[in-house]
Amino acid sequence: MTAPLSPELLARFAALVAPQDVLDEDAAAPRLVEPRGLYRGRGPVIQPRDTEQVAAIVRLAAETGTRIVPQGGNTGLVGGQTPDPSGAQIVLSTARLTRIREVDPDENVMVVEAGVTLAAAQEAAVQAERLFPLSLGSEGSCTIGGNIATNAGGVGVVAYGNMRDLVLGVEAVLPDGRIWNGLRRLRKDNTGYDLKQLFIGSEGTLGLVTAAVLKLFPAPRDLATAFVGLRSTNDALALFRLVRQRAGAALTGCELMPRIGIDFTLRHMLGTRDPLDAPHPWYLLIELSSPVEGGLAGRLEEILAEAMEAGLVSDAAIAASVEQTAAFWRIRMGMSEVQAREGGSIKHDVSVPLARVAEFITEATAAVAAFAPRARVVAFGHLGDGNIHFNVSQPVGADKAAYLKSWSAMNAVVHEVVHAFEGSIAAEHGVGRLKRDLLPGVKSQVELDLMRTIKRALDPQGLFNPGVILD
Ligand code: FAD
Repeated sequence: MTAPLSPELLARFAALVAPQDVLDEDAAAPRLVEPRGLYRGRGPVIQPRDTEQVAAIVRLAAETGTRIVPQGGNTGLVGGQTPDPSGAQIVLSTARLTRIREVDPDENVMVVEAGVTLAAAQEAAVQAERLFPLSLGSEGSCTIGGNIATNAGGVGVVAYGNMRDLVLGVEAVLPDGRIWNGLRRLRKDNTGYDLKQLFIGSEGTLGLVTAAVLKLFPAPRDLATAFVGLRSTNDALALFRLVRQRAGAALTGCELMPRIGIDFTLRHMLGTRDPLDAPHPWYLLIELSSPVEGGLAGRLEEILAEAMEAGLVSDAAIAASVEQTAAFWRIRMGMSEVQAREGGSIKHDVSVPLARVAEFITEATAAVAAFAPRARVVAFGHLGDGNIHFNVSQPVGADKAAYLKSWSAMNAVVHEVVHAFEGSIAAEHGVGRLKRDLLPGVKSQVELDLMRTIKRALDPQGLFNPGVILD
């Protein structure tokens, strides 16, 4: 269906929620464009207040063949939350599903609705003296439902895993309008297929996640953070291994940054300053944390001294205060944002086997230099997960629009190297619309058939997020 929704049909949808829960054109506008402006769409934005309202909307959509685009915080970077320009699709927003239904510190679980922001979920855990460890640059706006739908990663994966590892149960409205209450909180449950896993990473193509049971962890009582200057990515990898070996489970963050990324940050983010006296080609932000009080700063200092003796570390600063810790992290968390201030940036969210990260960065950088000699590679990210945001900023002074026209060709250059390293072209942000047509090149026919079989079984009318992941 490509004709815009008729006023009569829109009125039927609107009647299922309160009048203020269907956004007018002005209020809807920011929700119809994805964060980088790569996708723009049209259509009504409907914000149900509970699971029953979601189910009623989906039942009407199923009856009338209306397509649904699920949306959380609208921070996704692959266009999965943006409707197409036809006006025929409805955006089903979780903005009003914001209840924290339960926090149980004894069981180390909490039950939250899909529209709760990640920051609010973290805060609810803190109030109960617990930790919810997922942490992303977009945590103030992204939602638990979006985190589940994209199997979000972020800076804590090295210790706690992806969202997939943090979800015990899911409640979802299926494409036929039925509610599946899978809000189990069991750590062990082998009663057949683990259906919640289907929704984790499904990018809104199999139904709308309305709530989830999340795992909590003991709150950290000790924290040590270091900003380390290094000569090379090989040294960064060797240092990561050393810290993992010496600190074990206390290693809860290990982020790689290049000098150019630090330069961009110092140039564009007010109030930032270089934590080290002299510039270095590469940096690691290392975080140790533990629920047991005391001793981590000393341990980190010892490990860094050992690394320095081995010639791995050029210089390092250990945060002496909460403010300094925040300042270190601010540099890392701002690294995506500041690239926009340097003109066009072509993104690659890739992963390769950990042992080959350094080699990958070298080869991909050489491939980019051959393709676009003056383009500026900004390779940073979650070293401990083998996940690099291999972004390429436009040459200084180049025309942004002309540069961005080389997006697909640049992707092909970098993805060829990823392929040679047996990596993934969508490590964190998912496939969405942006990478959909690349999927047949990286998945076997058997895998694609299985994915289509699952989609057809759950959503035979193709109502949920058409054109996302699969065409
Ligand atoms: P949206 O953007 O609204 O939607 C994303 C996808 O999920 C869409 O396909 C949508 O249809 C679907 N969806 C949303 N809610 C639901 C639901 N309730 N049920 C079913 N489907 C749903 N991602 C990472 O993994 N790691 C990072 O480190 C990271 N850093 C980021 C930093 C910045 C500055 C920005 C802007 C983004 C970053 N992201 C990162 C990407 C993004 O924040 C995550 O993908 C996030 O999980 C999306 O959540 P959201 O609520 O904004 O979802």
